[in-house]
Amino acid sequence: MPFRFAHPEPPRPSATPRPRVFPVFLPLAGCPGRCLYCNQPAQTGQAPEPLEAVLTRARAELSALSQPVELAFYGGTFTALPEPWPHRFLDLATELRASGRVTRVRCSTRPDAVTPLLLADLRGRGLDLVELGVQSFQDAALAASRRGYGGAVALAACRMVAEASLSLGIQLLPGMPGHGPDDFARDVEVVASLTPEAKPESVRLYPCLVLEGTPLADLWRAGEFSPWPLSVTIEALAAALRVLWAAGVPAARMGLAEQAGLAVLAGPRHPALGQMARARALFLHVRDLLAGLPKPAATLFVPARWQGEVLGQGNELAGEYAGLGLGVEAWAEPEFGLG
Ligand code: SF4
Repeated sequence: MPFRFAHPEPPRPSATPRPRVFPVFLPLAGCPGRCLYCNQPAQTGQAPEPLEAVLTRARAELSALSQPVELAFYGGTFTALPEPWPHRFLDLATELRASGRVTRVRCSTRPDAVTPLLLADLRGRGLDLVELGVQSFQDAALAASRRGYGGAVALAACRMVAEASLSLGIQLLPGMPGHGPDDFARDVEVVASLTPEAKPESVRLYPCLVLEGTPLADLWRAGEFSPWPLSVTIEALAAALRVLWAAGVPAARMGLAEQAGLAVLAGPRHPALGQMARARALFLHVRDLLAGLPKPAATLFVPARWQGEVLGQGNELAGEYAGLGLGVEAWAEPEFGLG
């Protein structure tokens, strides 16, 4: 009888499909300055524009939707928008929620742009989830990347969001200036330690890329910054996934979304980055399980749901499984098997 085990990723919430996320981009709005690596206009495909114009367009587009959506205010520092803009955007969301077009509302912001009072106010106005662009909890890396806050502020902000009864999202930026794989491993441990009181609903891992039009591009051209190689990034992401999964925290996204006009000069960009990291994480999990089995196994049995993912991009992990003495076979069971 093969030894059976489940995929280590926490089960995805309910089989009922969640409404799609409808992003309203507010590029750089509310930001205290331009961060070294950030080119939100290119990342979102949208130039900064007056907030009144953004609101008017969002109202028109959302009113025309036939399916409910989760509304997301992304691309800037929502909680630091000048008054009365946070309220005006949330009032629109409330109006659309009343008509059934919006089911949930989220925003992205910086850790140093939240206070308990502000979060309570926005919660009362209908905000459900706050995604914090933490990037790192390590003081030296935050200073080298000129983020303008330290690790203690980032950690306090995570707890503040949860204490305000808001769902928490966390974004990390492995490989930003001053940030090595060990720093990233420590960051992931911090995220895992937030459970259960401030367990994030999701974590996004955005390995640092050199984007055209950023101060980081100038540093890279001057030879003062080198991004992580792809292989280092995959290894670090895989290790991070294992820690997050063990803490019951899903990783929602790895790597920047493809966007026309986004010029990436250097860095670990790959269209299958997430798939490669997930496959690697599963491989490491299998390797550890195998080492603990009382007798050797010759085959990894893979349920249908995971067959496209197990061997990684272009079957890159086939040799590694063979190195463990394992063949990989599909089977019709819902769990994995080693036998
Ligand atoms: S990284 Fe965030 S805070 Fe910094 S400029 Fe970009 S959107 Fe603003």
